[in-house]
Formats: sequence, C-alpha cells, structure tokens
Amino acid sequence: MFSTGKIDWVWVDLDDTIWDFSANSLDALGQVYESEHLVEFFPTVDEWRERYLECNHSLWPLYNVGKITKEFLMTERFRRVLVEAGCAEERAVAMSAVLDREYLDRLGRLKRLVPGALELLRHLRRNGYNIGVISNGFYEVQHRKMSSSGIGGMMDAVVLSDDIGVNKPDRRIFDYAVNKVSGSAGRSLIIGDNPDTDIAGGLGAGWHAVYFNRDGMCRQPVPEGCVEIQSLFAAIDLL
Ligand SMILES: [Mg+2]
Repeated sequence: MFSTGKIDWVWVDLDDTIWDFSANSLDALGQVYESEHLVEFFPTVDEWRERYLECNHSLWPLYNVGKITKEFLMTERFRRVLVEAGCAEERAVAMSAVLDREYLDRLGRLKRLVPGALELLRHLRRNGYNIGVISNGFYEVQHRKMSSSGIGGMMDAVVLSDDIGVNKPDRRIFDYAVNKVSGSAGRSLIIGDNPDTDIAGGLGAGWHAVYFNRDGMCRQPVPEGCVEIQSLFAAIDLL
C-alpha cells in the first residue's frame, strides 16, 4: 500500500508499539513490590499491579493533554495508590519518590519488544526508509529502553515530548519532527498503538498513519483515514 516512493520517514511510537511496555511494566512492578516490601499495603503482587495500573491509566490522558506535569504524574501515581491502601500521607509522599526512581530504573533495563518489532525495523532499514521514534515518554527512560533492547542504533532520529514540552496529539510535536529531519508531512508515516495521540495527532498534522491495534484488543472506533493492523508483521506487508 505504501512504497518508498511515497514515504521517506516512518516514525514509530515506542511504548507498546515497539518496546513491550505492558509486559515490561508488569515485570518492573513485580520487582519493586519485592524490593520495597509493598506486601505491607498490598496482600498480593497482582493487587499492587492492578491498583497502580488503574491509577497510572487515569493520569496519563491528563498528562497527554498538558493538564498535569510530568513531575506530578511520576510521583502522584504512587502516592495515590499508597494512600488509598491505608498508608499515611507523609510516608506515602516519601515512598512515592523512592518508588518512582526504583520503578523507572528497573523498567529501563528490561528488553522485551512487541512481537514483530525487530522484524519490522529490519525490514524498514533494508528497504531504505528512515526510521524515527516519536514518543510522549520521558527522556532518560526512553533512551535507556532503546539501548537496553538493542534498537537504539536502528533509529535515524528520536523526538520526545520532553524535547519540546508538548505531547502527541499536539500537532507541534509532529511539525517539529518533520522540521528536525528536513522531511515533509505528506511523506511521513506514523505507526502507533494509541488512536487518540499517535493516530489522531499524525493525521491532524498531515501524515499517513498506521494504527496498531494489537490483537484487535481496542474496541474504540478507528480514526478515519488510517490503516489498521493487528500485528506488526502486517506492517511489513504495507511498506
Ligand atoms: Mg504507545
């Protein structure tokens, strides 16, 4: 469907598009549960993960649209679940700073990629596409994820919301990416798993978009104008 004649730059979202955030995050949360003795507040590791993920999930959309800061998000997601589990406020504040550091440190060391990600990146390289990462994640963590999983060297450009202070879907981050590589919007493509940030944002900036709906798990209507795939192997056939 696409061809090198039509697309110069393929931009990929990182978390849960290339790097398996969901799996790696469960792993890191499990490690933190042990190291920080969270059994005091959560009887099982599953309960800890469930509470944390619920809270994190409710905060990220606010960060994506700029309603809360990165700093607030990073500690609030721990502070809130601790307080809700009966931890005293002052202790929860202190613990949230430690948990934030521990969790991100462990997360950044994990390497699991989404099935098909490596094959897709290799395919793009072999076929002459430039590859960029465009992500709302945090600078230090995103770079660590790329280097620990061994994909950093395959990227021709990395654009993070941290670099310019605006998040996908804000069109400015897409425009910034195009300008950074002296590309053009009409010859740029984004592959991402989030219809609201990656896909709506990319289409709004005049890019082509491939919506990665992993295993068809997301029931949200697909934004008009994008191509939907349920496996990254399908993206290989498109490019
Ligand atoms: Mg993502």
